[in-house]
Amino acid sequence: MRRVFIGVGHGGSDSGAVGYIVEKNGALVIATACKDYLIANGVEVRMSRYIDEDESLREKINECNAYNPDLCADIHLNAGGGDGAEVFHSVIGGKGKILAENILKELEAIGQNSRGTKTKVDTDGTDYFGFIRCTNAPAVITEAYFVDNANDVQIGDTIEEQKIVGQAIAKGFLRTLGITSNNDVPVRQSPAENGQNTAESGQKVGKIASIQSTLNSRYGFNIAVDNIYGAETHTALVKGLQTELNKQFNAGLDIDGIFGPLTRNACVVVEKGDEGNITYLIQAMLICKGYDLDADSIFGSITDSKVKEFQKNNNLEVDSLVGKNTFEKLFA
Ligand SMILES: [Zn+2]
Repeated sequence: MRRVFIGVGHGGSDSGAVGYIVEKNGALVIATACKDYLIANGVEVRMSRYIDEDESLREKINECNAYNPDLCADIHLNAGGGDGAEVFHSVIGGKGKILAENILKELEAIGQNSRGTKTKVDTDGTDYFGFIRCTNAPAVITEAYFVDNANDVQIGDTIEEQKIVGQAIAKGFLRTLGITSNNDVPVRQSPAENGQNTAESGQKVGKIASIQSTLNSRYGFNIAVDNIYGAETHTALVKGLQTELNKQFNAGLDIDGIFGPLTRNACVVVEKGDEGNITYLIQAMLICKGYDLDADSIFGSITDSKVKEFQKNNNLEVDSLVGKNTFEKLFA
């Protein structure tokens, strides 16, 4: 299987360029959409970050080289008031140059103007950018548009547009890998209620995939629908809980995906007979942690027995009430 590594520019305390939008946020949406499109077309993908967090360039390069991809890109957005897309590649040329050209072609296909492919060379003649110089795979740095140009930013100043930019970059990868991209692939199809969906798109199906899809549509997230419970899905579940606590109980929490003391204090007791989105999130987290039940948003007798099992396994009081301690064990 072909592999692509996608670096996500900036993150955490490093916002990158700030204009009409913030670079680190746009880069994450673009990179995630690129990843989803590649996965839907049968490519394996790893991203340098899946959430808003700090990451050094050195870490990113090490992670990329350890993953050993066929191709890699670092996703950035431009600043300085220019107009159009540019993609950097190695001064050596080769596959990286072809990738840069293909990405630009696809960005032009969605209506963006091109400033051309570029190289940036240090005084010693090597590539100036560490991501291009130190990665083993052919590498590019994409600058799809200028965040500080009121006109140019319009190609990607909404989430929906940023997803289209990410898909264009993905098509540039596919073209370079010799894979015919299937435009009809539904990248974000919702698995059926019972999780028995067709897998034509390459999207995984199953209970966790169904939960991931529901989190995306209910809370506007863009997490991978890969049926794998990892940090990204965990954070999304915590954010979902924080959103519900704010909406239903005016908890006033930051939606930061971290189950800290404030979130703990805001949790209210959930028990048998309850139903709704918080019950759904409890069921979802139990499923993610390996318990066999359905997420139907109704706290019935099966959920009740699984909660008790979870409490017993975690040395909690087995009372079948999901209170602050049980919430903490589930979500922290
Ligand atoms: Zn940048």
